[in-house]
Amino acid sequence: MASDLVRALKTKAKSLSLSSRKITYLTKDYAKLTWITTLKLNNNYLSDLPYELQCLEQLTELNLGNNVFDEVPSVLAHLCHLKKLYLYGNKIKHLQPQILEGLPNLVLLNLNHNRIKVIPPEIHRLGRLESMSITDNHLEQIPAELGLIKSLTEVNFTNNKLTRIPQQLYSLSQLRKLYLARNNLTELPEGILSWRNLKTLDVAGNHLSVFPVGFQFLTLEELFCEGNNLVSFKPMESIQEKEILSLKELSARMILRDSTNKFSMLSRALPFYPELQDLLSHWGQCAVCSMPFLTTWLECVQFINLKHMGMKSSEFIPVRVLLCSYDCFNRNDHRYYGLVQM
Ligand SMILES: [Zn+2]
Repeated sequence: MASDLVRALKTKAKSLSLSSRKITYLTKDYAKLTWITTLKLNNNYLSDLPYELQCLEQLTELNLGNNVFDEVPSVLAHLCHLKKLYLYGNKIKHLQPQILEGLPNLVLLNLNHNRIKVIPPEIHRLGRLESMSITDNHLEQIPAELGLIKSLTEVNFTNNKLTRIPQQLYSLSQLRKLYLARNNLTELPEGILSWRNLKTLDVAGNHLSVFPVGFQFLTLEELFCEGNNLVSFKPMESIQEKEILSLKELSARMILRDSTNKFSMLSRALPFYPELQDLLSHWGQCAVCSMPFLTTWLECVQFINLKHMGMKSSEFIPVRVLLCSYDCFNRNDHRYYGLVQM
């Protein structure tokens, strides 16, 4: 029996570290340490764990970083008390849904430096997860179900292949830190103000051109956005066209305007037409005249000084603004610049 094990059996220590011991294989005798809460096996040559380790029912922290696992060891599905799991620096390609389902108490998950392409939708079974880090993998997308893990406060997807993030991520209202640097994002979806607790946002090294509507009202402490294709601070030609709105848009605007008046006939009739209500629920508001619009708008940009957002830098960033018409755009009492022609 290994001397570490003999000592651990004798002292009944709660924590056992076998880091950097060139271990290629862990014997099932370690399953006798049923009282341990922390087991560190990082920096070895392990590719599997004995099934008997499921007897470690007190285990709350397991470090398997920097080994040679090519999948998440299946015994983990039975270590349901785990709170912290480190699997960084392995060769893992898949996250098996049945293992995620067996870890309802996980608070921290670190899968940095692996080969993961897909996060399965069952990820939401990690219902207590607060910190998730999957940097330096091959992720192409994030499942919408991630938005169901309301406990998440810190998420790190740096250096992957993400082209977009799902709108559902905005349901993570506890999120404080989000790292999305070095991906292929072209835009952030609208609705960003739901991240009312966000303090750090890292989107450096993507393909963003503009930040979503209302971005300047976030209470960020840190923003990293270098290495994007951000629209630069120079006034663009104003476009003096007059647009012709569709009948649908015209009537939608009329109903939207009217429905703010509770006593109008239209707003009293609206509840009887749920499909229409649903259609109208995606409306926007003109930044100049505050009037509503539905599907036709003018996309503009305003430049916000980061200093005015409470940050140290006095850099300007472009933030999207939507206007209802060229009439509003051509007024000279605003500082919005045209971005795309209608
Ligand atoms: Zn307007």
